[in-house]
Amino acid sequence: MKKMISVKAKMTLWLTILMIVLSGVLVGFMMLLSQAVARRTAMSQLKSAVQNNVQYVSVNDAKPEINGTFAYYQNGVSLLVYSRSETLLAGQVPVTYTAQGSFENGVLRTVPVLDGEYLVLDVWIPAGWENGVWLRGVMENPDSHQLNSSLLTMAVLTLPIFVVLTVFGGYRIVKKAFRPLDHINATVAEINGAKDLSGRIGLPQGRDEFSRLAENFDGMLERLERSFEAEKQFTSDASHELRTPVSIIKGACEFAEKYDETPEERKETIEMIHRQADRMTKLIQQLLSMTRMEQGTEKFKLLSENLLEILLTLCEEEKWDKARFHLNIPEHIMVRVDQELFKRLIRNLVENGFKYGKPKGQVWIGAYEENGELLISVKDDGIGIAKEEQEKVWNRFYQSDASRSDEEGAGLGLAIVQQIAKLHGGYMTLQSELGQGSTFTLHLTKMAQNMKEYAKSI
Ligand code: ADP
Repeated sequence: MKKMISVKAKMTLWLTILMIVLSGVLVGFMMLLSQAVARRTAMSQLKSAVQNNVQYVSVNDAKPEINGTFAYYQNGVSLLVYSRSETLLAGQVPVTYTAQGSFENGVLRTVPVLDGEYLVLDVWIPAGWENGVWLRGVMENPDSHQLNSSLLTMAVLTLPIFVVLTVFGGYRIVKKAFRPLDHINATVAEINGAKDLSGRIGLPQGRDEFSRLAENFDGMLERLERSFEAEKQFTSDASHELRTPVSIIKGACEFAEKYDETPEERKETIEMIHRQADRMTKLIQQLLSMTRMEQGTEKFKLLSENLLEILLTLCEEEKWDKARFHLNIPEHIMVRVDQELFKRLIRNLVENGFKYGKPKGQVWIGAYEENGELLISVKDDGIGIAKEEQEKVWNRFYQSDASRSDEEGAGLGLAIVQQIAKLHGGYMTLQSELGQGSTFTLHLTKMAQNMKEYAKSI
């Protein structure tokens, strides 16, 4: 397994590298800037020293006359007077000024010497056509080594302190920022270890990424817990539902062995076993079909079909009593459905309509368009469903107390209806009044159905 490097360490490392690079760039920039400033200042000092003193030098009879106020040295500038033939007449050349350059009137220039650089400015002071003297100002160029080396020394001394401060400060800040993540990590590990989905991270509400992560985690745990509970419930319900017919069959067999004597008695028992086996077969089929739909492995093919034709065929197949079953469907409505699944959906609803209806109760099927949806409703005038039960009827294995004694049903019919509706991109709604009857409506949405096809026909 790869060695784990904590994000905190990584972030601190990156922060430190960034700080070092930034400090380097900053020191370099400061060096350049200070060089430029020092040079500019020196140049202006040189210029003003030469300009101030030029007035104190005059030439009389080819000889220079220097006024007493002339400054030989001013603000680091050495002022020198040279003859026309470039012989030094007055002033002292700095020891380090080893250059032997020629003179250039009024041009400020840098002159390289053995150990650095000098700034030089010459001014020609004329006397008539022939005579005159040179006034030269020389000054060491301050840009170079001294300044830079002091800056470098400062940088070398402060950088390690800077790095240490960045490492410690950065690590502390990053550690603090990552504290919620540690908490999330620990809680998730705890939930995982204890295999108990009821744990929650429960970070206080905030607006940063960690709070949102914790919130999403808690939401996910909530959903996982609910679906885990539902699965547990489903497994126990399913095994319970299967156990009932099995124990009835076993009981019947034992009873028959001991007490059934006549062929009539045996026939009665065999019929009962048959009914229970049918019930089990139906239940297993329903469970299989539901699982396939949930896992997306149920094979289905949506084709454009004529709604009225499908319903008439179904009515024929099921031999529903025409006096109790009414179709109110316009002739040319087309729907995109899987015939078998769609028939199963309608069959479940109509059979419930009869099963939970009054004696000789009626069932109506209608179709109409509303808000861009095609609505197919199955209405009965039966016992109705109480308000508080209306949401529960869609749950798997839900049966109202009144219908628990029903041998055929196991409370899976409506759960299957809802799944089929979903497979067709639609959904189910229910309106019901106790004692008045119920209307189950399949909503097929515009997206799932090619609306053009049936909008034309309605
Ligand atoms: P089952 O009919 O096998 O019990 P369903 O899933 O089809 O299972 O129905 C669940 C419950 O909803 C039924 O037990 C019944 O109480 C109620 N129910 C379904 N359809 C109707 C209806 N048309 N009228 C009244 N109650 C109904």
